[in-house]
Amino acid sequence: ATLSDRINAAVSSLRGRGRLSDADIATAIAEIRRALLDADVALPVVRDFTATVRERAEQSEVSKALDPSQQIVKIVHEELTRILGGATRELRFAKRPPTVIMLAGLQGAGKTTLAGKLGKWLRDSGHTPLLVASDLQRPNAVQQLEIVGKGAGVAVWSPEPGNGVGDPVEVARTGVAHAREQFYDVVVVDTAGRLGVDAELMQQAADIRDAVKPDETLFVIDAMIGQDAVTTANAFAEGVGFTGVVLSKLDGDARGGAALSVSSVTGAPVLFASTGEKVGDFERFHADRMASRILDMGDVMTLIEQAERAFDEDQAAELANKIAGDGDFTLDDFLQQMQQMKQLGSMKKMLGMLPGMGQIREQLENFDEREVDRVEAIVRSMTPGERTNPKILNGSRRSRIARGSGTTVSEVNGLLDRFDQAKTMMRSMARGGGAPGMPGGGF
Ligand code: GDP
Repeated sequence: ATLSDRINAAVSSLRGRGRLSDADIATAIAEIRRALLDADVALPVVRDFTATVRERAEQSEVSKALDPSQQIVKIVHEELTRILGGATRELRFAKRPPTVIMLAGLQGAGKTTLAGKLGKWLRDSGHTPLLVASDLQRPNAVQQLEIVGKGAGVAVWSPEPGNGVGDPVEVARTGVAHAREQFYDVVVVDTAGRLGVDAELMQQAADIRDAVKPDETLFVIDAMIGQDAVTTANAFAEGVGFTGVVLSKLDGDARGGAALSVSSVTGAPVLFASTGEKVGDFERFHADRMASRILDMGDVMTLIEQAERAFDEDQAAELANKIAGDGDFTLDDFLQQMQQMKQLGSMKKMLGMLPGMGQIREQLENFDEREVDRVEAIVRSMTPGERTNPKILNGSRRSRIARGSGTTVSEVNGLLDRFDQAKTMMRSMARGGGAPGMPGGGF
């Protein structure tokens, strides 16, 4: 959030100018650079990023543009996408099942939790996954995986006599053999982590890797660990090797920038993001969409996908249209949007993905679902004419609405301000020229 606010502030200082001098550009880039460093993004990554942005910005693409600040946003978006790993990579499945996915990372990184999320996601996409409990280091890790598996409706292979009690390599090996016999098509192997990187841990992970020959090794990294992320990632890259990264705890309030450097530093793409403790708090990672979120252009695609998971298709298509801004966005639509999001449960997360909402993030932090009821009461107290044309809402109408809805005039004003902001964002999105992965474009 802070990174997003600061980058947006830097860029908006350029807004509305007909021409940008090299000095204007340099000032904005220096501020973006400071924001990235303060967010714990690794220095080499920041250097590379700012050098490329400066080079591109000073070239003709900006000076020739009609709106130079938009052009800068476009460059920053593209370069952020690049450091976040570029094009989305799909999980690779083996030609002959079972596909073996091994999880590696420090203790507490979120591997066991991820195993459940991945299991559920795989099951939902038509696979028959088996989770294998090869973390015999952490007390209760096996039991935790069993609970997680049960919650996700996914089978778990755990150490028992014959399955290699006490030997994580043997558990992994027998687990994969069991999957082959029982026609599970994907095996997710949870492994042990230590609190810090150590040689024994690396050896164990390497032994498991050699025993099960994973198709994917996913390095799970806690987004909250700060600058250590890069060192840890390098240690794992060297000790075990990995084909993909999972960023966990992206819901936390940590700066997260170091985790955002991991892909750039190790060259492995981020495949998934974990955003909470519940089994559904899990997303495919798309660098372009993450860049859009950081630039507060909203992650409309992820929002729509989550909506699709929760609603039937017609409702989702309708929501998509509204959000993409098909012209007449009224207070009724605004209310309907909020109600639909309330159904989705995780209101705060959803609103955070909507364009323009970054500006009022503080309000959102204090957002509670009763807010939707308040909005509903206010909108219901308006006449149909007022709902489609809020411009006619003068002082006396506003106090009538406040009385009618049991709220105050300032609450009515607050709602109208937010509606205006949302509407402006929707319009600019509908007008825009095609940001990657976003309907109607984001610029
Ligand atoms: P492991 O040691 O790598 O297996 O880590 P765990 O899966 O046991 O996770 C460690 C702690 O982090 C647990 O308390 C989890 O509930 C929590 N956790 C895992 N993933 C997330 C996440 O994405 N967000 C949040 N907020 N907590 C998480």
